[in-house]
Order: sequence, then C-alpha cells, then structure tokens
Amino acid sequence: MREVPCEIIEDILPLYVDDVCSEESKNIVEEHLSHCEQCQMKWKRMKADLLITEKKKVDSTTDDRLIKRMAATWKQGRKKSFMKGVFISALTIAVLLLVYVGLFQWQISSVPADKAEISDVGETGDGKIMYHLNIDDGYSVNTLKYSLDDNGDFYITAKRPVVKEKAQPLSTLEKGYDFIDIPEQENIRSQKIKAIYFGTSDDRTLIWKKGMQLPDASEEAKERFGF
Ligand SMILES: [Zn+2]
Repeated sequence: MREVPCEIIEDILPLYVDDVCSEESKNIVEEHLSHCEQCQMKWKRMKADLLITEKKKVDSTTDDRLIKRMAATWKQGRKKSFMKGVFISALTIAVLLLVYVGLFQWQISSVPADKAEISDVGETGDGKIMYHLNIDDGYSVNTLKYSLDDNGDFYITAKRPVVKEKAQPLSTLEKGYDFIDIPEQENIRSQKIKAIYFGTSDDRTLIWKKGMQLPDASEEAKERFGF
C-alpha cells in the first residue's frame, strides 16, 4: 500500500473518530497512525474532544431534565399555593363573618339591670303585671327575652349585640310599657311564676313577687294595650 499523505489522513480523521468512515478508509487510517506520531497525536486530541462533547451532551440533558422537573414542581407548587390561597381566603371570610355576626348581630349582651328604670308597676284584675321600662343609656335594645327558671323566677332580659348601636330615636323596646300575663305564661311554660325580675339571675331588679300588693295598672298603661 502506498504511503498516504498526512493531509488526507487529517481529512478523514474526523470521520474515523466518529466511526462513520468505510472499512477501507478505516484500514488506511489505522495503518497510517501505526507509524505516524503526528497524526496519532491529532487523533488522540480529537478523541478526547469527542469525549468532552459527549459528556457535555449528557450534562445538558441532565440539566434539561432538571429544569423540566423544577418547572413541573413549580407549576404544581403554584397550583397548590393557589388552592391554599383560596382556602385561606374562604377561611378569612368565614372568620370575619363570624366576628361580624358575633359582634354586631348576635344578641348576647344583656343590658345591666341598673341601666333600666322600671316604673309604674301595676296589675290588671286578670293577673297581668304591667310596668314601664326606660333604658336610656343611649344604646338600642334589639330584643326583650322572657325566661323562667326552675325556681319560678321569671326574667325579662333586654339584649343587644356586643357592639352597641346608638339608639335614635328610642324605640318601644327601650322606652315604654310592657306587661307579663302571668296566667298565660304559666300555662305556656307549665310552671308557676313566683317572681318577675328585670335582668338576669346575676344582675336583676325585682318587679313583682308573689304576695306583693301592687296598685292597679295605670290608665295610661292599660290604654296602651287596649285593656
Ligand atoms: Zn501522518
């Protein structure tokens, strides 16, 4: 085989390194490399370069995969944090609503007995106890609650929310006549009434007690209810 010039080997070398040349070219290159140190050096360098390139390729695929995985995780994270956000918002609204109802709507606060002025207490011939109520601490009363405990103590409790509303103008709940129909209440509750109080068991003003002699209800009071 005649000697092949180094230039030609150099031309084929990349193909040889990539292992894409023909069997014949391969033989020629190998034969040349066996005795030409210069081309051998070039070949070795090319081989090394190829290895580096391939390694880089592997690295970048790893990077790609890593980025994709990170993106997926991030997307998932976003979905999760979105749901978390929705949940937290719903929870916040629920809590605010509860606080609002609790503070402004729920009639849980009882008006202190000393804030209520009870006057003109009297009775009608048929067992109704009438009284005039005046709560003038400047706040509105939202409801009057009637209750009877096991001792036969009947309570008239004025209720308002924790956050009080300014009373303007005074409604009949804050100022006016009211009556307790004893026979009717005893009938509804199947229990005898021994006393009537304004307030609660802890904080009360006596309005009437069994055996107490009350004057006749005033004409004004009776007129108010058409008795
Ligand atoms: Zn050579």
